[in-house]
Amino acid sequence: MSSTATINFGGFVPLSTVDWRGRSVCVVFFRGCPVRCWYCHNEAIQDGEDIRNISDIMDEISSASLLVSAVLFSGGEATMQPDALCALATGAKKIGLATGLHTNGVYPSVLDMLISRQLIDHIALDVKAEWRLYTQRLGSHCVQEVRHSLALCKAAHECGDLPEFEVVFTLFRGYEGEVARIAHEIFDVDLVLQQGIKHTIPPLTTTELMAIADSLRRPVRIRTREDGEILYEGFRSCRPSGIW
Ligand code: SF4
Repeated sequence: MSSTATINFGGFVPLSTVDWRGRSVCVVFFRGCPVRCWYCHNEAIQDGEDIRNISDIMDEISSASLLVSAVLFSGGEATMQPDALCALATGAKKIGLATGLHTNGVYPSVLDMLISRQLIDHIALDVKAEWRLYTQRLGSHCVQEVRHSLALCKAAHECGDLPEFEVVFTLFRGYEGEVARIAHEIFDVDLVLQQGIKHTIPPLTTTELMAIADSLRRPVRIRTREDGEILYEGFRSCRPSGIW
């Protein structure tokens, strides 16, 4: 690895058990994000500069590898720095770690590159609104890119090139119906309904999220601050007999 390779660094967590289901991971946060979600909880690393050598971050990952089985790339938006992301994923693979990515999907070509080089094992794609509201919500004309990312991740997962893929939809009170309006595009993908948190809006409860899941008539994972993550298949209990 070139000693001149750098990352605009956002932070490092040596051990997390909540960012990748079923794994203990370390997390590398990339600084910088091209969109502006109104509920962002990582505003401090949406922009700015903290340039570090990739080799220093790899040292952190190597130290953490005694306790974890994977490294997760998060942000900000990690795919905004494709060279750094590629270098770290390659380095992590070399020391036997699985690699995961949380992404907003704005750079589908970077996802394509990671998948085609077999550098990524898990992608969690944030879908942040129904498509027609994307530009208004994110302050960015990126909806076609996100839809492209969804399509290419689905295809890669189906053919086995991407071992794990899930869509994460963050839901807020007053916008409960949005996920149903894109449900037909994600019916065959693992789906997480995530409780949106913004201090000005009372968060949806687990029961309310279950009601949304019922309307989708499919299994979902429900993620809340109160209850962690649960697999919800409650709709099955009210199906007519002989169906499913
Ligand atoms: S994509 Fe993530 S980091 Fe970027 S503004 Fe939205 S929540 Fe914040």
